[in-house]
Amino acid sequence: MVTLQKALWGIILVVLVTCPYHTQARIGTFWHVTDFHYDVNYTTTGDSQNMCWDHRVDNTSPGKFGDYGCDTPLELVTAAIQAMVKIQPKPDFILWTGDDTAHVADKYFTTTKVVNIIHELTDKLNRSFPNTTFFPVLGNHDYYPKNQVSHYGNHDY
Ligand SMILES: [Zn+2]
Repeated sequence: MVTLQKALWGIILVVLVTCPYHTQARIGTFWHVTDFHYDVNYTTTGDSQNMCWDHRVDNTSPGKFGDYGCDTPLELVTAAIQAMVKIQPKPDFILWTGDDTAHVADKYFTTTKVVNIIHELTDKLNRSFPNTTFFPVLGNHDYYPKNQVSHYGNHDY
């Protein structure tokens, strides 16, 4: 009997030593991205008061990566996604909590424009993180008209 107990403890010890993966908690990684508020009309040239959707307060040219009072230009979206890939190219998953379109009055938007912006961001993220599971959630700016997502089935979404 004593011999059997020693043998079992020996087996248990060998299993614990040779399988550290099973004895330690696995540490995972994920990205949480939100509120891109991508402004497809952002530009650094032209009339300084009309280079982004919002009305700017000064007459200087907005920066390549954005400007106070403006939403996110493509350059900043692209740089942010590239930084994500550089820092952690293979996260366990990506939580994407929406608000993808610019803060634009409904009169300038349509369902097609909103869906196209979400499609463009989806494409960029999918190409940058292939084979990664996404958990997307719509924000209040991911619907047209904004803030009015239906509780029930919707043809466009
Ligand atoms: Zn937002």
